[in-house]
Amino acid sequence: MTPAIAKAIYVILAIGWYVIRIPHERRARRTPVSRSARGIRERVLLSISLTGLGILPFAYVAFGFPRFAKYTFQPSLAWAGAVVAAAALLLFYLTHRALGRNWSVSLDLRESHKLVTSGIYTYVRHPMYSAFWLWAIAQALLLPNWIAGPAGLIGFGTLYFFRVGEEEKLMSEAFGDQYRDYIDRTGRVIPRVGKVLSPR
Ligand code: SAH
Repeated sequence: MTPAIAKAIYVILAIGWYVIRIPHERRARRTPVSRSARGIRERVLLSISLTGLGILPFAYVAFGFPRFAKYTFQPSLAWAGAVVAAAALLLFYLTHRALGRNWSVSLDLRESHKLVTSGIYTYVRHPMYSAFWLWAIAQALLLPNWIAGPAGLIGFGTLYFFRVGEEEKLMSEAFGDQYRDYIDRTGRVIPRVGKVLSPR
């Protein structure tokens, strides 16, 4: 493992994410939105997340920027980052497959929105956010730079902590007891071990 290979793995992660997302984005866009909690706040949060997970690591991978923040490359960390990156992509694929047309980049309810509680959603309520947490961890492990590395954890973390409560409020308003029961048997981004071993 070399710094160049670690950078290449980061690029493959970003391209893989995009390739998985495109067909789902096209399909979801054809389904009209009936209710939305989008607003200036959501736009700011999305921009912060994009900066941390995309723009800053891209500046590092393409231009080595910011140079003053670089540190000595550790192959073992980068190997761990490669494994986490693969897990992120797999999880990302599974979430899009389960969520289908109900997906949105922001907080929207689509016409005939269905509450998905199957597939990977059997275990956690926000597996797509779990996938982005894994991406952010992979980024920190792959890029030996004190700014570009942790930027994903800070950028996505900001989006996550400000959004997840709002999203659950929206889903509770739309699906009532069905969503509240779902909350009782699942974890937010990490499965609740007891519930997985004995679901009822
Ligand atoms: N938070 C989820 C989904 C992210 S996409 C995850 O991390 O996997 C965001 C959109 O998904 C929101 O517009 C919300 O309305 C929708 N959504 C979230 N959970 C859902 C579920 N269990 N079933 C259907 N739609 C869901």
